[in-house]
Amino acid sequence: MSPVIPIRSSTAEACAPDITTERGQREVFCGLTGIIWLHRKIQDAFFLVVGSRTCAHLIQSAAGVMIFAEPRFGTAIIDERDLAGLADCNEELDKIVADLLQRRPDIKLLFLVGSCPSEVIKLDLSRAAYRLNTQYGQSGAGVKVLNYSGSGIETTFTQGEDACLAALVPTLKTTDSPHRKLLVVGTLADVVEDQFRALFGKMGMHDVDFFPPRRSAQLPSIGPGTVFLLAQPFLADTARALENLGAQHLPAPFPLGAQGTTAWLAQAANAFGVSHDVFENAIDAPRKRAVQAVAKHRTELNDKTIFFFPDSQLEIPLARFLHHELGMHLAEVGTPYVHRKHMEADLIQLPSNTRVVEGQDVEQQLDRCRAANPDLVVCGLGLANPLEAEGFTTKWAIELVFTPIQGYEQAGDLAGLFSRPLIRRLKLVA
Ligand code: SF4
Repeated sequence: MSPVIPIRSSTAEACAPDITTERGQREVFCGLTGIIWLHRKIQDAFFLVVGSRTCAHLIQSAAGVMIFAEPRFGTAIIDERDLAGLADCNEELDKIVADLLQRRPDIKLLFLVGSCPSEVIKLDLSRAAYRLNTQYGQSGAGVKVLNYSGSGIETTFTQGEDACLAALVPTLKTTDSPHRKLLVVGTLADVVEDQFRALFGKMGMHDVDFFPPRRSAQLPSIGPGTVFLLAQPFLADTARALENLGAQHLPAPFPLGAQGTTAWLAQAANAFGVSHDVFENAIDAPRKRAVQAVAKHRTELNDKTIFFFPDSQLEIPLARFLHHELGMHLAEVGTPYVHRKHMEADLIQLPSNTRVVEGQDVEQQLDRCRAANPDLVVCGLGLANPLEAEGFTTKWAIELVFTPIQGYEQAGDLAGLFSRPLIRRLKLVA
């Protein structure tokens, strides 16, 4: 059967750009940040950070003012007595967990999240999780206890989600059934998940699971017939763990913008033998809406130059979207880490002379940014203020992870995230 649409669009460049690697001072958040979007998604999970007051402040301030209801995350503070080895941290942790689970019977999945301080004192959270899981998993409470690290020593910003999902994979049920089913991997806002489910349904694909699910009871099972699409580009460990269980990765561009979403959906449609007509019929109206919504932002963005500092690992698919659908020039595409296989379909669509930099040496990168003098800079919060003070227009990379941006219906909003700072700057100088 011929594919419903080629993976590479007709505008694709002949070969992928070279990737330069830099190792130096980095300016990125740690993996605890992922708790902000993960706790919203898995509604019966709780994230217990085993860390310091700094860790508690980081997630509280990243979560903003949402703490009116009881939150689904908290911090077990490691204090001076723990650091000095005067207290038994395991005993204290057991007490905190007992207290928490008694107060919150709605919790069915508890993550013990490691941090820099828990690593420094070498607190073995995997043993703690095993012990607590035995205690609460097999009791009437039925609580699954897992652990992963969100520490700044081991993880950057979006790697926290990868570590969390990779910890969940071994708990998934496996099956021998060759029955073909699709798994969409990576946290998506519920509204985006519903839209994708409806689109797959229109193509006749009803056996579709999302990972992570909204509730822990909905965790998918994996078998030799499972194929998966990544919805986020920062899930290397999770993908590897799924492949070890026999699932097969479908390489595709990420579902950003009209073109990215079409190619992403097409990969699934191909794998399920959906006919060209059925596919086109399903996507025709939403794709048109996406193209129109994106076009509204072309006036501001066409022919403008953008510079990406490494932050979320979304940089390469975003650069592909901004270049092909909005006519932007790419001064530099910095990204913390490039997973060649997962990124290939986006990478080959960048102009072959694009400067793609993996890792960071922040001072050198700042010099290159100043020399390139781009119209828009995408960077972390720490760099945004100084760059604005130097006269650059910036976009906070973290917003691109907190905002629903995947799929047709969000394509216009995604373009708006880049055009808005330019409009604001024009108003300021007018
Ligand atoms: Fe800071 Fe480390 Fe805690 Fe992250 S985990 S907030 S980097 S101390």
